[in-house]
Amino acid sequence: MLPSALTGAARPSYTRPPDHSESRSQRALAHRGLAPRATALPRVGRAATVPAPYPPMRAPLLACLTLLAAVTAPAATPAKLRVLIIDGQNNHTVWPKSTAMMKAYLEQSGRFEVAVARTRFTWKGDKWLAQYPAPGGGPVQDLKEPQADPDFAPDFSRHDVVISNFGWKAADWPAATRQALEDFVARGGGFVSVHAANNSFPNWPAYNRMIGLGGWGGRNEKDGPYVYYDDQGKLVRDPRPGPGGAHGPQHEFVLEARVPDHPILRGLPRRWRHPQDECYDRLRGPAEGMTVLATAFSSPEFKGTGRHEPALMVIEFGRGRVFHTILGHEDYSFEGVGFITTLLRGTEWAATGAVTLRVPPDFPTETQATRRPFAGPAAR
Ligand code: ZN
Repeated sequence: MLPSALTGAARPSYTRPPDHSESRSQRALAHRGLAPRATALPRVGRAATVPAPYPPMRAPLLACLTLLAAVTAPAATPAKLRVLIIDGQNNHTVWPKSTAMMKAYLEQSGRFEVAVARTRFTWKGDKWLAQYPAPGGGPVQDLKEPQADPDFAPDFSRHDVVISNFGWKAADWPAATRQALEDFVARGGGFVSVHAANNSFPNWPAYNRMIGLGGWGGRNEKDGPYVYYDDQGKLVRDPRPGPGGAHGPQHEFVLEARVPDHPILRGLPRRWRHPQDECYDRLRGPAEGMTVLATAFSSPEFKGTGRHEPALMVIEFGRGRVFHTILGHEDYSFEGVGFITTLLRGTEWAATGAVTLRVPPDFPTETQATRRPFAGPAAR
């Protein structure tokens, strides 16, 4: 029996955390020298309500001109969100390709502009490194073991959201770079952890708080509880001893929304099927300020726990927002339309606190997984 304080009610209704997106969005617009949309569009309307300089008899003409201006004025286009994908060391050899895939999917939505920062010393880039070099990046040296890159120092502050495609056994970053990421997110930046990014950096306390739950790398009860939903629909925080992180053989599985009214999930089916992937289980971590958005049943048939394991999560870290997806083992997993849709929406939400991206018509159902074959990097 678990202490009642460690259990939570099922299907909590989502309460929007303090929203700093507007000020951040406005800062982003100012950064590009663009007027915020809220002040750009109503300018016409404001003129129509100012009576002082115009005699009453001219008011109808002014109204017509105002209406004409409103109709003919080009619609303001929201500035693209600036995404930085970081990578370089990941036990999943597909990582150079999966970075290119995420970059293409994000850019094809029209909502994002994407840059990539790659460590100079890479690990397990394998055959994909030459085919998918980091755009604008310098030469890399692929090593037999991960090695710290003392020069890895992306300027996170130039972006709205950072996506990590690092993985298990990634070498530690320089202390200043770790601090820079902590400061970036704590001050309101977005962070997205994809699949094995939750294996990285087990000895970095702030990183573990950022991702909420992690696995492998010696993670165990010292790092926090197991978190899962039981068959009764109760969220359980389980402090019992044991290693963090496991998965059985890859298979298709169904994701189930636990907070369907969260902006990332709103409009999606309550249950949807994901193509072949690893269903992570037994993750554990601080899980502070964390909301489990969706779970996947970890089937004993595939060496699973028999629990409903967290698959999509959001975490508050200071003033920043984190989106965490366990999905994304192989390139065919990245092609899953459920993965793509939640990655894009989760990235937008992490950057702004809101989601404008629509649910695509090819989104999967509970019984039919869908994939969007990757045709290659977006044209430049
Ligand atoms: Zn994997």
